[in-house]
Amino acid sequence: MADLAARLLAKERAAVPEALNLVDDGRPERRRQAAALLDALQRSQAASAALRVGVTGAPGAGKSTLLDALVRVLRTANRTVGILAVDPSSQRTGGALLGDRLRVRSSASDDGVYVRSMAARERLGGLADATRASLEILSAVFDVVFVETVGVGQSEGDVASATDTVVFVAQPGAGDTLQFMKAGILELPDVFVVNKADTGAVARRTAHELEAGLGLSTNADQGWTPPVILASARDGTAVDDIVGAIDAHRKHLEETGELEARRTRSRVAHVLGSLSLAYGSYGLERIGGANAVEARVLASSEASAHALVEDLGREITAALRA
Ligand code: GDP
Repeated sequence: MADLAARLLAKERAAVPEALNLVDDGRPERRRQAAALLDALQRSQAASAALRVGVTGAPGAGKSTLLDALVRVLRTANRTVGILAVDPSSQRTGGALLGDRLRVRSSASDDGVYVRSMAARERLGGLADATRASLEILSAVFDVVFVETVGVGQSEGDVASATDTVVFVAQPGAGDTLQFMKAGILELPDVFVVNKADTGAVARRTAHELEAGLGLSTNADQGWTPPVILASARDGTAVDDIVGAIDAHRKHLEETGELEARRTRSRVAHVLGSLSLAYGSYGLERIGGANAVEARVLASSEASAHALVEDLGREITAALRA
């Protein structure tokens, strides 16, 4: 695993599919190897420089088209891009995965772009462990990593907890605003994009509605006002402004110390989420409950969340047997 880690750290693109297949493999021996690989990446801190960006929104809002446009802007600036497309419906319908649609458009011969689609297993509509592990791997290799999900409730919270910046793509005239206000989702995104600006008045109205809605909502992150960007993935309007907003948000996170805080919260959420899914609250209590688990995560900055889940899982299993 040291070799695979070294290849990833050298930004060797050919190592990426191998690493992604490893973390997607459920067999015990492979899981141990995956944990070792992720530990090596965690120790090297290689993955900490990448921008981790969640892209969410209703089907048809234009996420795939917009990602394609974002890739073009980023590649022009010589920045490399990894994309994880998480499709909650792929298992049920067997239909085309988001990433497959995307791959058709993005240049397949460009070594600076890598797209991987994943089905959201384990947690319906949410991010599975393998997705989080894949995010770590892509973050070690690429400058910017996007996680694309269809906006269906739970996944927004999960994507927000796994990424640093959440971009919400709104469909003009879809009446999203009210729904999202009701669901409290206006509080999660850091950047709002009203796509399809080329449709004119209806897009402008949606942007105004969103701005008005944001004025009413209470954003937890003081000091950052989420911008509402009227853009068109189709003709490229304001796509560079979206990149600008993502960069500005990253700068804000670094300056306020919020980046570290978010990543710590993300690790804790990952470990707690995985353990409670596998063992329930009864199992968690056997090793001292959520507070004890959090303390362990905070004290283990050299270990990957993946490896912590494995270790603590073994402790729970032992405690349950005792
Ligand atoms: P996703 O489901 O959110 O990934 O949406 P897609 O990227 O597949 O786009 C859904 C539809 O909207 C497609 O027919 C796109 O061609 C169209 N679309 C995407 N972006 C734009 C845009 O900026 N303007 C217009 N007019 N149509 C767009």
